[in-house]
Amino acid sequence: MAGRYVYSFGRGRAEGHGGMKDLLGGKGAGLQEMTRIGLPVPAGFIISTVACVLYLKRGREALRRAIGREVERNLRRLERATGRRLGDERDPLLVSVRSGAARSMPGMMETILNLGLNDRTVRGLAERTGNERFAYDAYRRFLSAYGCVVFGVPRDPMEQFLRDAKTRLGVQEDTAVPVEALRTICRQLQTHIREVIGRPFPESVEEQLWGAIEAVFRSWMAEKAVTYRRVERISGLPGTAVSVVQMVFGNLGETSGTGVCFTRDPNTGEKTLYGDLLLNAQGEDVVAGIRTPMSLSEMRRRLPRAYKELDRVRTILERRFRDMQDLEFTVEEGRLYMLQCRTGKRSPRAAFRIARDLAKQGVITRAEAVGRVTPEDIERLFYPVLDPRVPRSEREARWLATGIGAVPGAATGEVALTARLAEKAAGAGRQVILVRRETSPEDVAGMHAAQGILTATGGKTSHAAVVARGWGKTCVVGCEELSIDEAEGTARIGRRTLRAGDLITLDGTGGAVYEGSIPLTRPALPEAYHDIMGWADSMRRLGVRANVDTPYDALKAVEMGAEGIGLCRTEHMFFDSEDRRLAIREMILAANVETRRSALARLLPFQRQDFEGIFEAMDGRPVTIRLLDPPLHEFLPHSEEEQRALAARLHLPIETVARRVEQLKEANPMLGHRGCRVCLTYPEILEMQVRAIIEAAVAVRRRGIKVLPEIMHPLIMDPKEFDQVARHTREVAGEVLGEHDMAIPYLVGTMIEVPRAALLAGAIGAAADFFSFGTNDLTQMTMALSRDDAGRFLPEYVDDRRLGILADDPFQTLDQEGVGQLVIWAIERGRAAHPGLKIGICGEHGGEARSVGFCHRAGMDYVSCSPYRIPIARLAAAQAAIESRSAGRAAATGARHRARPGGGDGRARSGNRAGGSGGRQRGRRHPVAQA
Ligand code: ADP
Ligand code: MG
Ligand code: MG
Repeated sequence: MAGRYVYSFGRGRAEGHGGMKDLLGGKGAGLQEMTRIGLPVPAGFIISTVACVLYLKRGREALRRAIGREVERNLRRLERATGRRLGDERDPLLVSVRSGAARSMPGMMETILNLGLNDRTVRGLAERTGNERFAYDAYRRFLSAYGCVVFGVPRDPMEQFLRDAKTRLGVQEDTAVPVEALRTICRQLQTHIREVIGRPFPESVEEQLWGAIEAVFRSWMAEKAVTYRRVERISGLPGTAVSVVQMVFGNLGETSGTGVCFTRDPNTGEKTLYGDLLLNAQGEDVVAGIRTPMSLSEMRRRLPRAYKELDRVRTILERRFRDMQDLEFTVEEGRLYMLQCRTGKRSPRAAFRIARDLAKQGVITRAEAVGRVTPEDIERLFYPVLDPRVPRSEREARWLATGIGAVPGAATGEVALTARLAEKAAGAGRQVILVRRETSPEDVAGMHAAQGILTATGGKTSHAAVVARGWGKTCVVGCEELSIDEAEGTARIGRRTLRAGDLITLDGTGGAVYEGSIPLTRPALPEAYHDIMGWADSMRRLGVRANVDTPYDALKAVEMGAEGIGLCRTEHMFFDSEDRRLAIREMILAANVETRRSALARLLPFQRQDFEGIFEAMDGRPVTIRLLDPPLHEFLPHSEEEQRALAARLHLPIETVARRVEQLKEANPMLGHRGCRVCLTYPEILEMQVRAIIEAAVAVRRRGIKVLPEIMHPLIMDPKEFDQVARHTREVAGEVLGEHDMAIPYLVGTMIEVPRAALLAGAIGAAADFFSFGTNDLTQMTMALSRDDAGRFLPEYVDDRRLGILADDPFQTLDQEGVGQLVIWAIERGRAAHPGLKIGICGEHGGEARSVGFCHRAGMDYVSCSPYRIPIARLAAAQAAIESRSAGRAAATGARHRARPGGGDGRARSGNRAGGSGGRQRGRRHPVAQA
């Protein structure tokens, strides 16, 4: 209805419903819906967010003109419904005036209770209830809340009156303050407010009401609310609604109380009422910690009727909202009233269990259950945590400081103040925590070696945080109490001085730093995790593989759900032992082909053995093996001392070794003599590697284990390069198979990691069996960004309060807008030239949820990522499949479908940036469609 601002509810009739969050706020929509389905809710009305916009834009007069009559009408209606009148001196109606936007912003906006009290109505209330103490308790609460919220009178001095009275009377609890004292407090409050604002506290209840409505609207723009929205990336909401609700009283005595509860345990997900009730109290008293509330099981004993009702309400609400709810309620003389419901926040563990249980109960579908858990839930499920059996007192005794928890989980180890020392200690088998003022790319090796990272500066997107998150490594940043004296080798935290080697423990979830080592546990995966992941697997189209180089990691990957290996790097194998290192170095230093071949011949058995191990571990699943990729220079010793030793072992003059190292040095090795370029110039390297792979395949096959090798050439930039290496690969493989008289299917493919290869993907694809997008290098080369150096400025690029040029770190989340274009182009050309071309991704992005969504929409066959990211990829792949299925359905039924940021139509698009809004609501669920 045009021009409508107010929606009433009460006595089982509601003008709004639960789908109207944008208009009525979450709280308002919830009250309407609860009324509509017959739950016990006090009556009231909601003034919509449209009125908030109007007020903030055009001010008081415009607001009154627009909504005055409607508010008046609804107030009369509320008075009829309750049988009481606002301002009635004998039996006054009291209301609460409450804030509430479409998204919950706990504690950020204002609410005023007990509105309608003045010096006359308070007496009427006392008489009607026969409880004078209650009436003045409500009055003093109202005066101080109103003074603070509407007039901006500081809260603390007002609360001091009550504290003083308690001291004077020698009582502990608010409930023990007698009526005389409360009356005095009310007078003190009135005087105090009058002094501060320069006029008397309004006795007119109409004036009170409008003052409160305006104050709630204004609280939308209060600094804390604005900041909260920025930090939580809440954008696009018009404002807050105002709910005016008949008061029900939890402070009427020992059969009344105020409570909060979850319909399931938010920590475990168990189906049990979980919450607290505080008797003879009002509103936030229950969470303010003024007295210890009682558990709901005690409520069951003390207030059985209200408890039973709450239990019934729980079931109804869960069915209605199809999720666990967070409830606020009041019991007035034994009767339950519902005051708020919303979807409850929960631990990752509970997220799995609740989603699974609701699906099993038939409340939601399995696809919805899969959509209810997030990649972050999975990530957090795997982190080691502080052992909950450690008593809290012990933890508190060890507490040193609290910074910002950047990567959840916990870690314990000895303090290392430089990356080098961290590496050294870790190399010696000790657990370390790297403690730095901040980290930089030079520290990366030390960071990797550490169990956890602690920095004095930085926020959740600092270098330390970003790098640590990539590894799932516990990290606490911005610990301001920390100062480091590198020269002294000490770190001060608060009053404690730590030296290298002292033990500390980090809790990356809460950001706390503890002295000594607190035992950690790896939480066992809950049963519900396996159920949900099983459902996810049955729904996804994308395959999920792992990037692993060793049989041990391969087994771990399979355990995490890998269906193959998408990237097995062979260069790591050359560093594995002294023998291997020596052989590869000899190969590189060889003056002629013969020497090179003989060195390679010594490497071959090592490689074959490694491949056998991996094929065995993968037990018939496909294994993509990438041939030698790094520049040869990386394998050579750089210090004179090491070069001398190498020369001696190879019976070469030191000068020869030094000269060769010098010759191989490159100004820009990333763009140098590496990847397939090495195999093209030294074909004998390719021969050795392919031989090792196929011989391993033959050996494993002879043991009755199926093998599916996929040989992959890195750094291809031209179809002719690929044609040559592929032909050579097939020749060697054919030769080996011929020697053993066996036929083993194998594939020969290429990485697409050079932009030129993506551009020429048609010609390359014609000859290739598969493509695997190496999006790390593809990103570096497309964006001219070095992963190792970008840390110096990339955070500013990504921070939308600084430069805000990129929406995300392109090394974490695939840059769909740019790099994604190349990917899509290459897939289209490749498949056009070679229908059925197998296509995957093996960059870090293969384990990042939004990038996985992109890979699904781009039509890839699989993603490949490090083992511990596999569950995330499985979930993200399932969610992407579910999403495109429902998008397809919506399109088919002709329903309007708003594309999500990032595109939901198979075409990469960075929605919010393309729109130029600069807003970053990515990853958020779209607002519930209006019914
Ligand atoms: P918040 O958004 O901060 O939770 P609310 O508007 O929900 O603020 O109000 C806070 C608390 O005040 C509620 O949880 C409830 O206990 C109490 N309250 C609000 N309205 C009423 C009412 N009409 N009757 C009794 N208590 C109320
Ligand atoms: Mg509330
Ligand atoms: Mg590469």
